Amino acid sequence: MSAPSPQQAATLEVIETARPPRPLIEEVKERSGAEISRCYQCRACGNGCPFVTAMDYTPNQVVRLLQFGMREEVLKCKTIWVCVGCHTCSSQCPMGIDIAAMMDALRLMAVEEGVAIGKPNIIDFHEEVLKSLEKNGRAHKLSIMLGYKRQTGGWFKDVDVGLKMLAKRKLELFPSRVKAVGEITDLFKCYWRESK
Ligand code: SF4
Ligand code: SF4
Repeated sequence: MSAPSPQQAATLEVIETARPPRPLIEEVKERSGAEISRCYQCRACGNGCPFVTAMDYTPNQVVRLLQFGMREEVLKCKTIWVCVGCHTCSSQCPMGIDIAAMMDALRLMAVEEGVAIGKPNIIDFHEEVLKSLEKNGRAHKLSIMLGYKRQTGGWFKDVDVGLKMLAKRKLELFPSRVKAVGEITDLFKCYWRESK
């Protein structure tokens, strides 16, 4: 074999040293444990999801996008942020695919990669939930709602819903705390505050 040209040498260097990009479904599986390749599009997850009408892609369509390696479409979609992690889909999937965990992984990937978030104010809401958990060890709905309104404005939007919830005692005025709240606060210091 003749001596390689500089261009060929560079190509050989890539062949020898570089690793081919990992398929997207492998990346998501590593983060979530979800065996996305097993999906055969029965649509049970999409048909059973209680929030599907607010989504731009049904859960089974998100799975399909992942199978096709359509990274940008998936990470920018609304669906991954509308999902509340109720696990209805995961419990109904005949192939045992943990779709809720998959959505979780996709949200993290979207934040890490700095893509435009599909539901613009949703990060503010997530932060308020985390603040409440850090402070009380459990979510206090009223402070989450007030914190979210403080960040995003629109104080009078949904006020009727809030009043109905108060009347039906679905909103506690004061938060209750778990006993070991200090341990939870320490966890937040290690794993959330440090990463910011
Ligand atoms: S329920 Fe499971 S197998 Fe059926 S479409 Fe959804 S992910 Fe795929
Ligand atoms: S976990 Fe998410 S995608 Fe699955 S049913 Fe619940 S809201 Fe829908």
